[in-house]
Amino acid sequence: MGLFSLFNVPKNASRSAIKTLKLKRHIIKILITEGNYTIVDLSNKTYFSVPTVTKVINSLLKDNIVLDLGKIDTSGGRRPNLYGINSKSGFFLGIEVNRKFLTIGLQDLKNEFVKINERIPFELSETHGSLSELCSRINEFVEASGIDRRNIIGACVNLSGRINSVKGYSYNYFYIEEDSLSHTISTQIGINTYLENDTRAMAFGEYNCGVVNGEKNVIFVNMSWGVGIGIITDGQLYYGHSGYSGEFGHSPLFDNNILCQCGKRGCLETEVSGWALERIFKDAIREGNISLAGNADNMESIENIDLERIINAVVMDEDTLAIDIISALGEKMGRYISLLINVFNPELVVIGGIMSTVGDYLMLPILTAIKKYSLNLVSQDMELKLSSLGSHAGVAGACYIVRKKFMEQLD
Ligand SMILES: [Zn+2]
Repeated sequence: MGLFSLFNVPKNASRSAIKTLKLKRHIIKILITEGNYTIVDLSNKTYFSVPTVTKVINSLLKDNIVLDLGKIDTSGGRRPNLYGINSKSGFFLGIEVNRKFLTIGLQDLKNEFVKINERIPFELSETHGSLSELCSRINEFVEASGIDRRNIIGACVNLSGRINSVKGYSYNYFYIEEDSLSHTISTQIGINTYLENDTRAMAFGEYNCGVVNGEKNVIFVNMSWGVGIGIITDGQLYYGHSGYSGEFGHSPLFDNNILCQCGKRGCLETEVSGWALERIFKDAIREGNISLAGNADNMESIENIDLERIINAVVMDEDTLAIDIISALGEKMGRYISLLINVFNPELVVIGGIMSTVGDYLMLPILTAIKKYSLNLVSQDMELKLSSLGSHAGVAGACYIVRKKFMEQLD
């Protein structure tokens, strides 16, 4: 009898059985969100009698959902027992889908990672084969974790592009089945699955367990292959009317006649993104600029340059060409982040994504441009920070999204 038993209400259940079930859910929610309590504390919090709460706690102990943590120290009298959630009685599964690899992580009920695998080889394409490979990789990960999948409360898959997380559809990738993508994956992995936009999930990860420290109005900027933003207003993820908020990368900001991945021309992404960086860097090498990452005399070496190699050239080799280009990109990005600051007046702007791993080479030009271009009154009490979760942000966020849905079910 795991946590799933909390949601299986038999058709002929009596009113008192339903009442007990609701109390069980309420107590579990309190123990997960607030921590450990005695039976008297729980009785005071739930307005149920001590004998009723004792009965529920005994049943949860029997199911191994709650743990008896022993007696607490008091100044005198009978010392009561303390009860806490068994963090290993339920798990959240997070999956981040990148173009060439997956990151999959499993967190327990206290949102501690019990297993995380990065860079699992994978080819993202708009095919049934790619979708079935995704499900196979998830199944392999779950099997290797040794955790019974009946104890995995839910999964969340992060994909880039337009995602309708309410209906479970992705419109940029795997829009190939009639059935919703979330339903297809749920069926193939045997775990209830949600979909989320990758940037929004990263923002949620940073908000819950990353660099965000109590700030309620936050803009997270994902500088990866594409560019997107995650918006948190008053402590809540902002989805927009249909769930497509945050497509900042496709703002028409340049008259450069460069075709964007979205089909339009002159989007922000055409000059400020991982794929723009790759193009600009290759062009610079072709023009004869010297770099450790490739040279103009060897066409093959130019073709082999990818985003990762350029980032490595900055981080490992302090390659001046790569640093100059990425810094120029940061300056442009800072200018357009000023636009976001003027519109949203955030307390905190977080820079994350693959490109942010170059650190100060990107952050300092962004900061300088923000100071230069934003309204001083709006930006003076705003902070700019680098993601602290790095490549774990998306998967952590995905696990927190499953947790949030689970908490809502407990109400
Ligand atoms: Zn675009």
